[in-house]
Amino acid sequence: MKCPICNKPTEREKHPSWPFCSVRCQLIDLGSWTSEEYRIESPEALSDNDLDDYSLEFEEAVLDSFRHKSSAT
Ligand SMILES: [Zn+2]
Repeated sequence: MKCPICNKPTEREKHPSWPFCSVRCQLIDLGSWTSEEYRIESPEALSDNDLDDYSLEFEEAVLDSFRHKSSAT
């Protein structure tokens, strides 16, 4: 299996974000359909340290938006 975002090989056992290689790619994928509300400015430029803080907040916002969208449509 390859990461759908960056095409790195990923293994389910080793990657909690599988099939994504990382939280970052998972967020990029999520961001691709929430980009109207949550604009990600060059997510590739984020460092992993940034992501420690960033991902939790962002993930919550994305999940919140998803719940909102799925109940609205
Ligand atoms: Zn990836």
